[in-house]
Amino acid sequence: MTRDPPGAMPHILPPMPELPEVEVLRRSLRRHLVGQRIEAVDIRDSRLREPLDEALFRAELPGRTILELARRAKYLLIALDGDRTLVVHLGMSGRLTVSSASAPAEPHEHLMIRLASGKRLKLRDPRRFGLALLLPTSEMRGDRHFRHLGLEPLEDEFDGAALRRVATGRRGPVKTFLMDARAVAGVGNIYASEALHRAAIHPQRSVARISAQRWNDLAEAVREVLQDAIRAGGTTLNDFADGQGRGGYFQVSLAVYDRAGEECGRCGGTIRRRVMAGRSTYYCPGCQR
Ligand code: ZN
Repeated sequence: MTRDPPGAMPHILPPMPELPEVEVLRRSLRRHLVGQRIEAVDIRDSRLREPLDEALFRAELPGRTILELARRAKYLLIALDGDRTLVVHLGMSGRLTVSSASAPAEPHEHLMIRLASGKRLKLRDPRRFGLALLLPTSEMRGDRHFRHLGLEPLEDEFDGAALRRVATGRRGPVKTFLMDARAVAGVGNIYASEALHRAAIHPQRSVARISAQRWNDLAEAVREVLQDAIRAGGTTLNDFADGQGRGGYFQVSLAVYDRAGEECGRCGGTIRRRVMAGRSTYYCPGCQR
C-alpha cells in the first residue's frame, strides 16, 4: 500500500470516532480512571441519543470504584464495582476527557464525574448523537445495545474461519457485510474500504463467492488496518485525555479512501469511487477482484 512520506500532511480526518479512536481513548483514559472512586456526578444536559437517566446516575454512581475500561464495537465500557458498567458511545461528535478540578465548565457538557483524585471525567457532545448508560455488568451481553453485535475484530477469535461462518447463508456485497454490525462490530466505512483494498477483494464481490483463503486475507487486513490506525493515534497524541478537551480524532494514512482519481500504490491503477448502500466506496479496479 502507499504510505505518506514522513512529515507529509495527513490525508484525512475521520468525520466521526471509529473503532480505533475509541480504542485509543480507552487506553489513554485507563491511567486516569482505573482505581478511582467516584465522588460526585453532575448532569448539565440530559439530551443525548437516549436521554441520560439523571436520577439513576445520581443514585448509583457516587461511591463506586472504577475497576477497568473495556470496549465493545464503538462502545467504551467503564466497569465499576457492585456489578455496574458505565457505557459511553461518542456518536458523531462526542468527547470524553479528563480535566483538572480547576478547569471551567465548557459548552455542551452533558455529564461530569468527579473522581477521588480531584480530576473530572467529562462527556461533551454538541450534536447529541452520543450515549451514556448505566447497566448491570452481568446483564450487558443481553442488553439491547449489545446482543445483536457480531464479531469483535481485535479479538483473538476473529479470523477467516469466523468470518466465513458468519457469512454462511448470506448474500450481498462483502463491503456491506463488513459494515453490518450484526456480522462484524465496529468496522466503519473508511476501514471497510481500506481492508478490502489491502486484501485485494472487490467491494462488490458477493460474500457467497469468497474462498476460505480470501476470508483469511480479509480477516488479517481488517485487523491490520485497525491496528495501524490505533498505532497512528497512539503516536499522534501522547495523551488523548490531556485535559484540554483535545483529541477525539486522529489522522491516518489511507491507501484508497477519499483518493478517487489517484494512482493505486500497489498496481498503478486508478482508484475509483462508487456509492454502495448510500456510502462512498473507494477501490482499485486494477487489483481488487
Ligand atoms: Zn491497485
